[in-house]
Amino acid sequence: MNAQSKFLFLGNHPLLDFVNTRISVKGEPVDLLSSFEDYIDWLVEASLIPVSKHNEIGLHWRDEVEKNQVLEKVRAFRSNLHRLVTDLTEEKNPSTAILEEINYFLAFNSGGYQLTQRQGRIEKLFAYGFKAPVHFLVPVAVAAMQLLTETEYSRIRKCETPACVLVFYDTSKSRRRRWCSMKTCGNRMKVNEFLKRRRK
Ligand SMILES: [Zn+2]
Repeated sequence: MNAQSKFLFLGNHPLLDFVNTRISVKGEPVDLLSSFEDYIDWLVEASLIPVSKHNEIGLHWRDEVEKNQVLEKVRAFRSNLHRLVTDLTEEKNPSTAILEEINYFLAFNSGGYQLTQRQGRIEKLFAYGFKAPVHFLVPVAVAAMQLLTETEYSRIRKCETPACVLVFYDTSKSRRRRWCSMKTCGNRMKVNEFLKRRRK
């Protein structure tokens, strides 16, 4: 994770990190994906596409209208995926509509695996093709497929701070992670609990 990043990578899963690109600051929604370029940066930082793809996309995607179309589609899909994650945290079954939407984007998947160097290690990455706006939804649709088929739903949780909208996959042994981050929400809640106890 890049300390300079403007995105949050605390979800332990790319789909949850994607949903966490829409946050809440003092009760107001804040969209961390404010442009097409933001979304491409996010895809690279989330390791869903290689850095080399970033430059390639920059060279080929210059039409502002098309870039805005992509951003709008990405945001609309994210809002439906947020609903899906909320359903999972509330032990509800995913809706047929969201499964159909994920399947729709999965059908546009084209490409294959490629090896890339990252911080002295070799990683395998799926090299997605980006020829039409709809192709930009594929990496997130694949992440959604992986969340739905490869995780324990009971570990998918929303941060316990009521005003915090962040979600995460609890990979702790004790299965008792309660907050998005101990530094922010966790600490604040612990201080509140401490003050409450002391007042009694
Ligand atoms: Zn939180």
